[in-house]
Amino acid sequence: MKELQGKVCLVTGGTRGIGRAIALAMADMGADVAFNYQNSRERAEEVCSLVQEKGVRCRAIAANVVSEEDVGRMVQEILDNLGPVSVLVNNAGITRDRTFLKMTRQMWDEVMNVNLDGLFNATHAVLPSMINLGWGRVISISSFVGLTGNFGQTNYAATKGAINSFTMALAREVARKGITVNAVAPGFTDTDMAREIPSNVLDQIKAMTPMGRLGTPEEVANAVAFLASPRSSFITGHVLSVNGGILM
Ligand code: NAP
Repeated sequence: MKELQGKVCLVTGGTRGIGRAIALAMADMGADVAFNYQNSRERAEEVCSLVQEKGVRCRAIAANVVSEEDVGRMVQEILDNLGPVSVLVNNAGITRDRTFLKMTRQMWDEVMNVNLDGLFNATHAVLPSMINLGWGRVISISSFVGLTGNFGQTNYAATKGAINSFTMALAREVARKGITVNAVAPGFTDTDMAREIPSNVLDQIKAMTPMGRLGTPEEVANAVAFLASPRSSFITGHVLSVNGGILM
């Protein structure tokens, strides 16, 4: 029997990068997988096929995490087709980098909306079913820049720091209901998001990282898989770094 067999996992933003690797890791553990996406329908269909090849059910749903209505519709669709969500991975996130004085209000708001309102909408929508089940896992993808700050990322770093403190606060609220709440804080990871960084800056990042390279999406997904599993049953309110040693 696989560790998450019979459980339903929702990953926000599962079409590419870290979310895609998490969707596949959850399927490897036997969970039925739902994920949402904003634009990439073809990629969503491809990920769904890969998930189904692992012998579990999959549902890819077009839904913007910023919209409470979209998220409500998505969670109802998952309930009708797969069952209640007991593992939520808040992964969807964006950057809009610029030094603070040049940052527009729109760049600030877009990052707050996806990274924090999205977290609220998804967690609020699935927490009642976890409480009913008496078992749940909420795992949010933060970032090491939420612990250190980063030049040109005041908006993004603010959201990732907030995800860390949200994790600790919610963990306290639901600890006696069988639900753990944790975050994974990746260092720079080889995805589309990191590919937006100029190559000379990426070289500097690699040089600053004791392991001398970027992380892979699978390395982040492995940490999420552990926190989703019954093996992590006494871990809550924790921010787990997966960063090649760039922050220790
Ligand atoms: P990515 O490759 O840019 O993928 C982002 C995913 O989020 C895509 O599936 C995208 O869907 C989805 N998404 C974006 N906005 C959405 C919205 N409004 N509603 C629904 N889905 C939305 O990103 P990534 O690098 O894998 O990052 C995943 C998470 O890890 C993020 O929270 C990021 O902040 C965090 N992280 C990344 C790094 C890194 O170096 N890559 C480091 C630390 C933390 P579409 O494909 O449809 O657009």
